Amino acid sequence: MDLDHELIVNTKGFLDPEEGQRLYEIALEASQKGPCLEIGSYCGKSTIYLGTACKQNGSVLFSIDHHRGSEEQQPGEEYFDPDLMDKKRHRIDTFPFLRETIEKAGLEDTVVPMVCKSALAGRQWATPLALVFIDGGHSFEDAFTDYNAWAPHLLPGGYLLIHDIFEDPKKGGQAPFEVYKLALASGLFKEQPRIKTLGVLRRQSF
Ligand code: MG
Repeated sequence: MDLDHELIVNTKGFLDPEEGQRLYEIALEASQKGPCLEIGSYCGKSTIYLGTACKQNGSVLFSIDHHRGSEEQQPGEEYFDPDLMDKKRHRIDTFPFLRETIEKAGLEDTVVPMVCKSALAGRQWATPLALVFIDGGHSFEDAFTDYNAWAPHLLPGGYLLIHDIFEDPKKGGQAPFEVYKLALASGLFKEQPRIKTLGVLRRQSF
């Protein structure tokens, strides 16, 4: 099963196609060794790339998001999208969009959506992971929480991917980059070539 590029183009999200292609390629390798996990499903654009790779290897993708939108996606904020409003409850709800994407991509037997905060999902987690993609809340607290909750579960040789790395503060928020640097400073990861704003780290095997 190949990537459905038409579906990808028509799915809301902030992932560049080159970054997505790299996600797919890394997941294709990683998912041979274990399940993959993403934080920040949103409407499922990255889920298509990661999930399609997992499906090809008979693996599983866990996809976490509280689906209430991050700070900058709330009404009046920079990334607010009125299509995503649950009119009855007057709040953002991206879960119906993710569900539809998973169905259209043929990934209902591959993706496990987890509708909650990442820290809660991580509290009792015990399954080793071959890939963790962090693209949730972009405050330092959120990104650091995601890192602390999930990086310890990576298998040796597993991939830690962090989206929205901006070395130049004028181009974007610094929290994901700060977390990326902390991960590197831990000595547990090896830096791999970056693709646009997609940081790629590999868990060392000692
Ligand atoms: Mg992102």
